[in-house]
Amino acid sequence: MKDGYGRTIDYLRISITDRCNLRCMYCMPEAGIPYLAHRDILTYEEIETICRALAQIGLEHVRITGGEPLVRQQCWRLVEKLRVISGIQTVALTTNGILLAQYAQQLVSAGLDGVNISLDTMDAAVYREITRCGDVSRVLAGLEAIQQYPQVTVKINSVLSGTNWKQTAISVAELAKRYPVHVRFIERMPLAEDNAPVCPQDDVLAALQTAYGAAQPCEKPMGFGPSTYVQFAGFRGKIGFISAVSHKFCEDCNRIRLTANGKLRLCLQSNQMIDLRALLRQGRIDELIPTVQEALKYKPQAHCFGQRGIETACMSQIGG
Ligand code: SAM
Ligand code: SF4
Repeated sequence: MKDGYGRTIDYLRISITDRCNLRCMYCMPEAGIPYLAHRDILTYEEIETICRALAQIGLEHVRITGGEPLVRQQCWRLVEKLRVISGIQTVALTTNGILLAQYAQQLVSAGLDGVNISLDTMDAAVYREITRCGDVSRVLAGLEAIQQYPQVTVKINSVLSGTNWKQTAISVAELAKRYPVHVRFIERMPLAEDNAPVCPQDDVLAALQTAYGAAQPCEKPMGFGPSTYVQFAGFRGKIGFISAVSHKFCEDCNRIRLTANGKLRLCLQSNQMIDLRALLRQGRIDELIPTVQEALKYKPQAHCFGQRGIETACMSQIGG
């Protein structure tokens, strides 16, 4: 798949639910959001149909996300369905990790290739504050559980915030020393009503270098995402940065998104959406491929986080 700027699009992020068992401050309001009705959410079979169509025109990688994907029943059934589609090379999951220990074995048996676990702090009280209700020990149990399956690539995603962010960054980065996992620091993106300052990549790297010595840049690109990575001596995993705000990466963008209710979203921060669910439920499956190909011509060149008021949804609704 090519978009209007000649970028190759081979990666689909699929939100399978807008529900979540946490309420992270930067993602969801404390009271939650008005949830989609169950009938409006794509079934696993409908998601499979969309992926089968897109795999015919170059879809290679999918990531299951949400909301919290593991709160949806039998999430591994979807992994199983997508993993056998010809052309799809990787099926990965992004989770807050709370239910990972419970489902790790089924997910891995279904063929899961990678899991990204979101973890913003190692401090139990701060974790509870950020997530408004979470128990960090469950996330760490999930991380331990997935270590039993070395075939699964594990990454930690960490959004830094608060005045103590330097110490937080140092303690979360330590996980890449203890485990063979990559730890990525994600700049907080100003979505919805969120106005909090970001902790810029260069400042985070400086803090880590003060603690762990000089980092070696990793020249070879790792994976196909927007992260840049460095290596610290003695660490088993790498440290990465995803800096949508301070280091815009849109020129290499390879991704599109599917929301839980079946809208194709061309950019994280764009209100342009194409209703694939309507095509499916009207029996117009033959139109999926031409519709997506036509839509891709209008994928924005870049996000515009600098401009307020464009994005009104939060990450859990978009499918982060
Ligand atoms: N519930 C799962 C989780 O937390 O990993 C998957 C969905 S969540 C929306 C996906 C990722 O988006 C998480 O790593 C989260 O930290 C990140 N995220 C949410 N809101 C964000 C924001 N405003 N800026 C940057 N990252 C954000
Ligand atoms: Fe839930 Fe993930 Fe959003 Fe946190 S970041 S509220 S875990 S969807």
